[in-house]
Amino acid sequence: MGAGRIHAADHGSAALNPASMDFDAARRRMVDEQLRARGLRDLRVIEAMASVPRERFVPADLHHRAYDDCPLPIGHDQTISQPYIVALMAELLALKSSDRVLEVGTGSGYAAAVLAELAGEVFTIERHAALAQRAQRDLAALGYEDIKVRAGDGSLGWPEAAPFDAILVSAGGPVVPESLRQQLAISGRMVIPVGHDPHSQRLLRLTRRDADHFEEEHLAAVTFVRLIGAEGWGEEG
Ligand code: SAM
Repeated sequence: MGAGRIHAADHGSAALNPASMDFDAARRRMVDEQLRARGLRDLRVIEAMASVPRERFVPADLHHRAYDDCPLPIGHDQTISQPYIVALMAELLALKSSDRVLEVGTGSGYAAAVLAELAGEVFTIERHAALAQRAQRDLAALGYEDIKVRAGDGSLGWPEAAPFDAILVSAGGPVVPESLRQQLAISGRMVIPVGHDPHSQRLLRLTRRDADHFEEEHLAAVTFVRLIGAEGWGEEG
């Protein structure tokens, strides 16, 4: 049985002891069974997903589920996204090694680490200061000291660091924030879950063709936590 299918209900299994788990093997199975099997093909993304240790971004009591095919809780009512979704969004961004990328919704820092494997510079912003701090610490411990992490409202972007070649929004808003649109470079790509229902969205890819024109592609149906902020949902939803 793949580690990705081990659930907390399997009490007594030796595989539940994180010390006895082979995370490298679990990561390889995740890549084969959750990414390649679903059609993801970008080799750079596959390699990034095969190299970032997801177990280092999930709470210790969930280490045994680090490669499960689902989001996992990380505290503050937030989640680390499903591996497939992280890989899909990264593939849709078509990143080059020189790109400057903004991520909105740092959460655990996992997606930021994947982006850092693919791009030149990564900026990531998280509204929960405690999560931002923990992500920064965990990223630095893995050698990702160059990722810039900030606590704040990412629906407003990171104006001083703009423009960005790519923007990945890891939380779902009712509309595409205008601030984020304007911080996209010409030819830049943004992938964002958008929907008027706070509990279900559609993944949208925007490509900025020139100052005023954005190509929009409506992709898979997804479920993300809410983007809360001045250009997202209000605190109360
Ligand atoms: N990318 C993360 C990871 O790899 O662990 C998962 C992100 S989680 C699905 C979404 C995150 O977006 C949450 O941590 C949430 O607090 C954050 N968030 C929601 N609204 C935000 C905003 N306006 N600015 C910054 N972060 C926000």
